Amino acid sequence: MADKKIYLSSPTMHGEEQEFIKEAFDTNWVAPLGPNVNAFEKEMADYVGIAHASALSAGTAAIHLALKILGVGEGDVVFAPSLTFSATCNPIVYEKAAPVFVDSERDTWNMDPEALEKAFEKYPNPKAVIVVHLYGTPAKLDEIMEICRNHHTPLIEDAAESLSSTYKGRHTGTFGKIGIYSFNGNKIITTSGGGMLVAEEGEITEKATFLATQARDPARYYQHSQIGYNYRMSNITAGIGRGQLLHLEEHKARKKEIYQQYREAFADIAEISLNPLNQDGDANCWLTCMTIDRSSSVTPNQVMDALAEQNVETRPIWKPMHLQPVFAEYDFIMAQEEARFAAEEDTSVAGDIFARGLCLPSDIKNTKEDMELIVHTVRKCFRG
Ligand SMILES: *Cc1c(COP(=O)(O)O)cnc(C)c1O
Repeated sequence: MADKKIYLSSPTMHGEEQEFIKEAFDTNWVAPLGPNVNAFEKEMADYVGIAHASALSAGTAAIHLALKILGVGEGDVVFAPSLTFSATCNPIVYEKAAPVFVDSERDTWNMDPEALEKAFEKYPNPKAVIVVHLYGTPAKLDEIMEICRNHHTPLIEDAAESLSSTYKGRHTGTFGKIGIYSFNGNKIITTSGGGMLVAEEGEITEKATFLATQARDPARYYQHSQIGYNYRMSNITAGIGRGQLLHLEEHKARKKEIYQQYREAFADIAEISLNPLNQDGDANCWLTCMTIDRSSSVTPNQVMDALAEQNVETRPIWKPMHLQPVFAEYDFIMAQEEARFAAEEDTSVAGDIFARGLCLPSDIKNTKEDMELIVHTVRKCFRG
């Protein structure tokens, strides 16, 4: 096995992060809030082009607060894509609401507008719709937003994976009533852990900040009229974020380059396709994924095993939520509902992508030699 481990997507630090942290230490703004938090919020809002932002402890916390702010509670229905990371959907259940999972389309792998329309036929009054821009590829936002508008349902954008991706020239995360970002360890920029909630309406981010700091009433004593949370980002964490934000465009450019390198390297292998990039947008290519044709004798596990032998980290595609034991009781809607019930097996697009796909190492620190090793190892699986 090679000594050097090649990572899927690990943190890349540049030095400025430490300067912002040092400043926090020097001024004793170590805890909990402070100038880095306010500055990071402003810098993020300016970067994505939205009016307001609230810095939080995680992307999951941001989704949770977005649902609370939209009034999601017990017995409510929330639509979410099936093909996503569980963090998109867990907060729905925190609030005792019921997720209804919506299938993907093949053009972007994201929530299928046709299936979303079907979901509204079956559940006319969901409290919210959550859309995800999976692996950084923007969803079909025009279609999804129109459906949400027609049904007077607010849209939450889970842009945890798509920070810096744009759709028709505008940043993902700024289309919905509320957008969320994540700065978890393997995201395109990281604060070691953290998240951000953004909105055009200042009332929304104020509410988020209020709930994230234990929901203290503006009274002389510690008085509470609502249940609060400890979800705020610390001043140290925000310092890392400020340093990272300076390099976000650079990270994106390198991620896009990695995608193109894989595209060229596998162009002659007909059985391999890469994850789609929305033609109406500019994807950040957070992770490059590949799928293998059904006709191929090679399986994703074989490719992942071959790469693991070379000390190369890979990851399966997110296992769809409608196939998760923990969400078994919740409904799942496909564009072709009839086909679904006629078939014995899972015929969903989400399930198909999961079964045939894997995530390739997309670490921006990968060297030319690293990329050659990965490409060589994958190609070898398909020879003979
Ligand atoms: C990472 C991620 C989250 C959660 O963000 P955290 O900051 O880890 O809580 C939510 N949704 C998606 C799609 C993600 O990839």
